[in-house]
Amino acid sequence: MVKRIDHIAIAVHDIDEVARFYTGILKLDLSGVEVVTEQKAKVGFLKIGESNIELVQPASDDSPLVKFLETRGPGIHHICLEVEDIEKEVEELKKQGARMIDEMPRPGAHNTRVAFIHPKSSGGVLIELNQLPERH
Ligand code: ZN
Repeated sequence: MVKRIDHIAIAVHDIDEVARFYTGILKLDLSGVEVVTEQKAKVGFLKIGESNIELVQPASDDSPLVKFLETRGPGIHHICLEVEDIEKEVEELKKQGARMIDEMPRPGAHNTRVAFIHPKSSGGVLIELNQLPERH
């Protein structure tokens, strides 16, 4: 089950530089800046109610984000939907013939587990599914 939009991700060259607009003018708080090694990305979150804007920046020269920024420039990179059970969701997508970038969930930011759906299957937009860690 898809629960909500967790975040909309914007690819940027420099999180700190772009964040000035969001924190300085829109008065949002930037938090959770971290490098997600598995995705070769540095990420930071701007919380807006139940959702976030995620700023994503390449963390290394071989990050897939480098190519994205080169060919398309900064802008919306993906939309992330929170799901209740990511294993089940990925299985169902594969069964229905959706093209997956991740055949299996993998580690995401903040101890989430994530899987990306190929834009070919979702109207040209990269979709990330995530499952939040259990709250204790
Ligand atoms: Zn994301």
